[in-house]
Amino acid sequence: MSASAIPTIETEKVKESKLPAIDFNNIPFGRTFSDHMFICEYFDGKWQTAKIQPYQPLEMSPACNVFHYGQAIFEGMKAYYKADESGVVLFRPEKNWERLNKSAVRMSMPEIPKELFMNGLQQLIQLDRDFIPKSAGSSLYIRPFMIGTEPFIGVKTSDRYLFMIIIGPVGPYYGEAISVLVYDTYIRATKGGYGNAKAAGNYAGTLYPVELARKQGYKDVLWLDGEHKKYVNEVGTMNIFFVVDGVLITPETDGAILEGITRDSIIQIAKSLGIPVEERVIAIDEIVAAHDNGTLTEMFGTGTAAVVNPVNRFGYKGKDYLLDETKYTISARIKEQLVGIQKCTIEDTFGWVVEL
Ligand SMILES: *Cc1c(COP(=O)(O)O)cnc(C)c1O
Repeated sequence: MSASAIPTIETEKVKESKLPAIDFNNIPFGRTFSDHMFICEYFDGKWQTAKIQPYQPLEMSPACNVFHYGQAIFEGMKAYYKADESGVVLFRPEKNWERLNKSAVRMSMPEIPKELFMNGLQQLIQLDRDFIPKSAGSSLYIRPFMIGTEPFIGVKTSDRYLFMIIIGPVGPYYGEAISVLVYDTYIRATKGGYGNAKAAGNYAGTLYPVELARKQGYKDVLWLDGEHKKYVNEVGTMNIFFVVDGVLITPETDGAILEGITRDSIIQIAKSLGIPVEERVIAIDEIVAAHDNGTLTEMFGTGTAAVVNPVNRFGYKGKDYLLDETKYTISARIKEQLVGIQKCTIEDTFGWVVEL
């Protein structure tokens, strides 16, 4: 994938870089962006000439679809410096492209050609390469997204879109253990809905219940299924895993659960390490029982941002259940493998790592 293969990306460079103003020892997540952004417009039934231009505000009609009916989807991915600093790699970027297009189909949006996604990504990162942090745990966070931009307030599928990529450095993520609240009232998604699309609306609807959980002292919410409110789904930014009796278990994806790329990678790594894995329906009552009889030994969330994040407390029906994250061995082993592959200190036998 040579960056020069597609000449159709016009590039306009910044006059002055904001790089000198960035303190790489103190980067808050999601607030610092690089000098440039990738932008491509869709109208007349096709993607138009793509551009890489200085990072800047957008000018849009207040009537645009995205402001009213919320056609908005996104991806989250990372680029890493190899541990020996000999190069930059992306982790399974094709999976993000595939998932973005799955989300697009579900939200009635146009699909993005692979070359447009991959070349836009590679050229933008190449140009803003100096924004990729080198220290352990740090990386470049990449946010591709698409919005409906037709200036029309009638309810229908937009006929204009913007596909953009913005990128920015993110600091080390320490993966401090979190607590989660299990609601038997609010739900995130249900089968037949769009819980498995990476759509902005899935987040909008959960902000309020997550805020309520925070007020009760929990960091996040572990969502149950929408129909029965009995079966474990996911954390809403992360997929969820448990270790019960030495078996790694995670809910099977059923249309309501986002199919995390980290989730898939962890399942494959666990299998390669000989750890038994089950993807199946998991009742919250089963987890409570496993906690009470001592067979629940680990619980953790997985996602691009945190990679593997231990959970050391969950609340359900007015009761709290505690776990000791300092004793988590299986998740620690898996995380070590995954981070090692991403930073190229462990051989990538899966073919996941793509050189920039
Ligand atoms: C992005 C996301 C995840 C994690 O997916 P990864 O591909 O592992 O980053 C989990 N749940 C939801 C709802 C998400 O949006």
